[in-house]
Amino acid sequence: MNIILIGPPGAGKGTQAKRIVAERGMVQLSTGDMLRDAKASGTEMGLRVAEIMARGDLVTDEIVIGLISEKLEAVPSAGVIFDGFPRTLAQADALDALLASRGEKIDHVVEIRVDDDALVARITGRFSCASCGEVFHDTARPPEREGVCDACGGTEFLRRADDSESALRTRLMSYYKQTSPLLGFYHATGRLRFVDGMGEMDDVAQAISKIFES
Ligand code: AMP
Repeated sequence: MNIILIGPPGAGKGTQAKRIVAERGMVQLSTGDMLRDAKASGTEMGLRVAEIMARGDLVTDEIVIGLISEKLEAVPSAGVIFDGFPRTLAQADALDALLASRGEKIDHVVEIRVDDDALVARITGRFSCASCGEVFHDTARPPEREGVCDACGGTEFLRRADDSESALRTRLMSYYKQTSPLLGFYHATGRLRFVDGMGEMDDVAQAISKIFES
């Protein structure tokens, strides 16, 4: 089964994707993570997109479609969670074509619905462990021992450059202008489901599980 998680920044796509990976052994393909890796390793493309990402704008379709098609080649068979991809109609068409060439398709597109007001608080307070990537939040989920990662004991934490309030505004606008039209497309092709993303993380995970089992 291949699924897409779709929702505005801060909806919890990455967190839920990691849970699904742990519970079902699927593979998470996050274009955001791929771009951050490219930036961190200082590749020419990584440096080119760094400024665009820091502003909260979308990088070009060509770059992200190239990244996804390269990564898909290394994934043996169906069982992918697409997190943060596709974000434009051109990317959605390219993904359908890439999967079709492997005899596969997208089975479910899960929209994680959240209130805009909640997003600002969620995003501006989040940080993650520099060693294992576990995600924390200043108020909603601080580490049990201050300064120590619950998951791996790491003591270095990172905040994303684009988790500032001004970049978030741009990211939200990109979502509404460029990504939300995908909801109509996936609805029209009978693949769209939605879950309420405002609940506890476990409840959201359970709602997503129900979609898998439907
Ligand atoms: P994310 O981690 O999914 O929130 O992505 C972080 C940033 O990476 C976005 O704000 C964009 O600048 C860029 N990005 C990630 N995925 C895509 C995509 N599918 N299309 C265009 N830009 C993307």
